Amino acid sequence: MSQLSKKDLDAFARRLQERRRALIAEIRQEIEDGEDEHSMALRDQFDDLDPHDDRAVSDWVREVGIAQVVRDTRELDDVEAALLRVADKSYGMCVDCGEAIPRARLDATPSAVRCVPCQEKAEARAGGVKTSL
Ligand SMILES: [Zn+2]
Repeated sequence: MSQLSKKDLDAFARRLQERRRALIAEIRQEIEDGEDEHSMALRDQFDDLDPHDDRAVSDWVREVGIAQVVRDTRELDDVEAALLRVADKSYGMCVDCGEAIPRARLDATPSAVRCVPCQEKAEARAGGVKTSL
């Protein structure tokens, strides 16, 4: 069971949704700044996407080979995963050890899916790539 009240969960869900919107806007801006053919083709695709179709949006952004966009996309994936966890009531629990993620960590990083020790282990497994801690 999550240690978070319904009210807390709603507040985190709101923050996550705002972050999701901001990230999509940022990614879009980054693409719009690119005047090359690749960016323009991606822009056309984006205009055809249903903004409520999470899968389509993240598939689309994954195709974009721009470093900043890739970083934002990774965060967007985390945010979307966290929103799914709010929906299935597993939000706030570490995906690896199942313990409650400390409240202060969630406040700092609402999209966190692991407690700090498990996050560090996961990053060591991933070859030391630092993600949102
Ligand atoms: Zn853990």
